[in-house]
Parts: sequence; structure tokens; C-alpha cells
Amino acid sequence: MTRQTPFISILLMLLMPSLVLGNWHKGGAAIMGTRISVEIWHEDNTTAKHAIEAVLDEFRRIDRALSPYIEESELFRVNRDADKQRTSISQEFFDLLERSLAYSQLTDGAFDITFASIGYHYDFRKGIRPSEDVIGNALPLINYRLIRLDTDSRTVAFAQEGVRIDLGGIAKGYAVDRGIGILQRLGIEHALISAGGDSRLLGDHRGRPWHIGIQAPRNKEALAAVLPLSETAVSTSGDYERFFERDGVRHHHIISPKTGRSAGELRSVTILGPNTTHTDALSTSVFVLGLKEGLALINRLDDVEAVIIDNQGKMHMSKGMEDLRPSSAEN
Ligand code: AMP
Ligand code: MG
Repeated sequence: MTRQTPFISILLMLLMPSLVLGNWHKGGAAIMGTRISVEIWHEDNTTAKHAIEAVLDEFRRIDRALSPYIEESELFRVNRDADKQRTSISQEFFDLLERSLAYSQLTDGAFDITFASIGYHYDFRKGIRPSEDVIGNALPLINYRLIRLDTDSRTVAFAQEGVRIDLGGIAKGYAVDRGIGILQRLGIEHALISAGGDSRLLGDHRGRPWHIGIQAPRNKEALAAVLPLSETAVSTSGDYERFFERDGVRHHHIISPKTGRSAGELRSVTILGPNTTHTDALSTSVFVLGLKEGLALINRLDDVEAVIIDNQGKMHMSKGMEDLRPSSAEN
């Protein structure tokens, strides 16, 4: 065992790429403020490389359209103009706004893209948050009913001055779904695309499930649970992703539309479902709704399940999770 070990290891390393990893291909890039990673199984190297690049290009395209920071983006233009005049938008953007409004209705306003009316006053990297005055004045502008869509003219207008929108609660999930669509059209049957907290699995890991970890909210190095999954979407929203602490209060990026402040009842919410647009919007929504209302919503919907970690570190699960009961470690 002792003397031969280095030789055996080197031999294994030489053999491994073709034996074990042979047809698995990985790629990634930093886009939409997060790490995008694509993993696919395909017998042909060139097709695989092309597929990964096509997915990453789609993420770049969506970022250019939906980023609140890029002045040429469609979202930037809408935020600049729609509180003054009806603003023409692309069909894709119109559809995303419609879907966002549908989630506002479904969640009784917990999911609300006008959270940005206050949200844009935060800078989590610099530790900047809005003053009490700013929150008080802008709170009435967080109201999805102020978004007026007109199907015939394909325009959007905001009913009050100062309304802002941001699609950060749904855009990554949407982009992952678009990426999976590209892979399906190329005939790929086993793949994983993940964009920060939003992942979707195409098929299984060739005869085994994929293993998806839920991060422990208070320990970067640890996992709270590992879920064996196939052919599903999974999104996690957490208060540890973008935050700063001030006077013992954790200010993070998920804003309760009722208070204009960070939602404080939970540490993380993981949603499993059929596609990432759905799980992304719902993970953000349940985070805002809190344990009781959030679980009630998930148990009422028949295509999603949830794993929730509350602000004491305790794990809770939706009814249908019993079969999948994750192995839990540190929360
Ligand atoms: P996620 O990590 O998917 O929960 O998304 C968090 C992002 O959703 C934030 O960075 C914001 O861009 C956006 N967001 C925050 N609060 C809300 C809210 N109440 N409704 C919709 N989107 C929100
Ligand atoms: Mg989300």
C-alpha cells in the first residue's frame, strides 16, 4: 500500500478523465452578479463546448436586458421613463412583468418587484441603507398595483412618480430555465445549470441522483442538508448572501414590502419545483412570508416543496418532503 500509492494515484489520475469524467463537461463564468456553472453529459466534445457557451451567452443577453446597473438595459430605461410616460417594451420583458405580477397576486404582495422603490437605496457592499425618512416616504411606492401593463400597445407605466422595479427575485431562475431550454433543444439529457442559489437539473447524474447541498446559513464551510435530486429545479434564498450588520440588526437583500425593511423571520428557504422561474420567485416569496404563511402557501400548491431554516436554526419541511427527508447537519 505504502510505496505503491503514488504510482497508483498517478495511474488513476491518468485514467480518470476518460473513465469517469470522460463525457462530463463543465464550464462557468461570473454573470448577473453571481457564479454561473454549467455541467453537461455529452459524448461529443465540440457539441458540449458549444452548448456550454450558448448557455453562458444567453445569461449575458438576459443580464444586458434586465440589469438595473446597465444604462442600456431595458429595465434601466423603464425605471427612468415609466413613471412619466407609457413605455414600449419587448415581448420578453412584458411576459416577465406579467409573471412577476402573477406571483404578487399569488403571494398576497410578498413578492413585489416594486420593492426596488426602497431597495435601490441599499448598497450592501458599502454597508449603506436608507434612512427612516426615506423608508417612510417611499413605502407607499412599494405596491405592485402601481404597475400598469397594456397588452395591445405592449407598454408599461407606473401610476406614481418614483416607483422603481427590479427583477432580482426571478431573473436568475428565468435565465436558468432559458439555458435548460437551449440544452434540451440540443438533445442533451443530463445537465445541471446553477446561478448562485438557483439550479435546475436535467435528468439524473447518469444512473445516480445529483446531490444538491443547502448551505448552512451561519457557517460558510458547512451544509445544512444534502438532497439527492433528479429532473427538478431548486432555489435557495438566504439572509447570508448579501448583507451587513448594524447595531445588532442584519440588513440583507430580501425586503418585506409591508415594512420596507429586510425580512427577519427566516435564515433560508429552499424550494423544489418543476422550473427555476417558479422556484426562484417562490423562494423569495416564502422568505418574506415567514414560516407559517410560507409553509401554508407551499402546502397549498401541488407542484412545489420547501425546506425552511428559521432564525433559531431549526429546519422545517413542507408536507411532501417527508420522502426526501434530508440528512441535516449544522444550520
Ligand atoms: P433571491 O436570492 O432569489 O431570494 O433574490 C433576492 C433578490 O430578490 C434581491 O436581491 C432583490 O433583487 C429581489 N427582492 C428582494 N425583495 C423582494 C421582494 N419582496 N419581492 C421580489 N423581489 C425581491
Ligand atoms: Mg428567489
